[in-house]
Amino acid sequence: MKITILGTGTSQGVPVIACDCMVCLSSNPKDNRLRSSVMIEVDDLNLVIDTGPDFRQQMLREKVDKVDSILFTHHHKDHVAGMDDIRAFNHKWKADMPIYCTKQTSEALKLEFPYIFSGFNYPGIPKVGINVIENKPFNIQGTIIKPIEVLHYKLPVLGFRIKNFVYLTDVSEISEKEKEKLKGADLIILDALRKKAHISHFNLEQALALLDELKPKQALLTHISHFMGLHDKVNNELPKHINLAYDGQSVTLNE
Ligand SMILES: [Zn+2]
Ligand SMILES: [Zn+2]
Ligand SMILES: [Zn+2]
Repeated sequence: MKITILGTGTSQGVPVIACDCMVCLSSNPKDNRLRSSVMIEVDDLNLVIDTGPDFRQQMLREKVDKVDSILFTHHHKDHVAGMDDIRAFNHKWKADMPIYCTKQTSEALKLEFPYIFSGFNYPGIPKVGINVIENKPFNIQGTIIKPIEVLHYKLPVLGFRIKNFVYLTDVSEISEKEKEKLKGADLIILDALRKKAHISHFNLEQALALLDELKPKQALLTHISHFMGLHDKVNNELPKHINLAYDGQSVTLNE
């Protein structure tokens, strides 16, 4: 299984427009963060979690030829805004794009992209097939995916476990029951917005505390704001098996 990190930035991305802080002006490419998303190559599938505003750029950068399905964590703009660009895959593969999301997310997508769901088949619009999922395991062509339901302030958000990999972004609270699903993972990619507390995201301290409890072999932190500080400096302060993720990073896991 190969995980490619498409983006690691918070909703505004880094650099932030018109910001002249040290992080936004940094010349280290690891301080440039597109909106958070990952791609997972597993079995014969290529899955993408979330299509934020940078989806097009991410697909081009990683030279992605085919996406088999898209999973959505939740409907916030920084996770869905790029969905229109799945059209390229519709054209290339002459097939609808299957998407997997909760009922709440699907309703938000219908409001966000009314032209996709109007029933009027205007030439050139994205073609998607929605699969409504709940907080129970489902499979895509035999590959089992386990949702993990957490809270993002008051909004229920899904994380996903696929074999020994967990992706969990936009989280500020996780129940003991859902925590069980994260145990024994080889790699956890987890939300850590910044050092200061935030109402709807784990800060660095909360993310590290959860990882200390779960003890995955390896963890990467994502959905990072410019307030986190410089990548290299913050990364050096972390335990050995935990790192700040960076855009374009890839990790291969033995299943
Ligand atoms: Zn977000
Ligand atoms: Zn800045
Ligand atoms: Zn969000």
